[in-house]
Amino acid sequence: KNVDPAPLEGKNLTMRFGGLVAVKDVSITVSSGEILGLIGPNGSGKTTLLNMLSGVLAPSEGTVLRGNTDLTNAQPYEVANHGIARTFQNIRLFDTLTVYQNVLIAALSTNKGERATQRCEVAIRAMGIGPHAGSDANTLSYGDQRRVEIARALACEPSLLFLDEPAAGMNREETDDLMATLQKLTRELGLGVLIVDHDLKLINQLCDRIIVLNEGAEIAQGDPAEIRKNPAVIEAYLGH
Ligand code: ADP
Repeated sequence: KNVDPAPLEGKNLTMRFGGLVAVKDVSITVSSGEILGLIGPNGSGKTTLLNMLSGVLAPSEGTVLRGNTDLTNAQPYEVANHGIARTFQNIRLFDTLTVYQNVLIAALSTNKGERATQRCEVAIRAMGIGPHAGSDANTLSYGDQRRVEIARALACEPSLLFLDEPAAGMNREETDDLMATLQKLTRELGLGVLIVDHDLKLINQLCDRIIVLNEGAEIAQGDPAEIRKNPAVIEAYLGH
């Protein structure tokens, strides 16, 4: 279910907030089986771009396509129905529900009955939070709460997964563990992942390909080794 092999293509996306151009003419393709990193200094337009790709914002200009389906002005639930799940920068869990209940609610948004239960259990296992399934979400460590968030996204059985700063607030060990989990997931499920972060080290370790934004515009794109050496990228990071 929900497996559309077509990539998600954002073409010439621009977003204006009044006089501010938050994203300027950026094109981006997210494909199955690939981990794509989106990096840039704070305020460079990363979340705004993610919001345009996931139906949270309607772009001022440009298009969002999945295969033959035009998702440019689609609502978030319609984008989700096309197999695209996302997490947000801030944790959005039901604090006093258990981990299992939190993930089951997400699974029920795209599946019914036994199928939802099955999806819920697969997602919990994939994220390694089985031992906490019966605990209230607010009793978990910050790192584990972030894992529950990703499990909720996975429970919708997406073919593409968008993660907005999934390691925010995690220590280095939690971050490394999460990266290992994401790498395994991508391989095993053939999932396409778009990961937004400002941590160059994390993105370098994890991603097959990287797009760098600065002041709303794309300044570089390529594999991690090229990006690390790119003078425009070094300048953007040192300049902030
Ligand atoms: P990043 O995710 O790279 O930190 P954002 O996409 O959050 O950057 O923000 C890009 C720019 O757009 C910033 O200058 C931010 O203040 C502005 N911005 C983001 N959302 C809004 C909004 N809803 N209204 C007005 N300005 C916004």
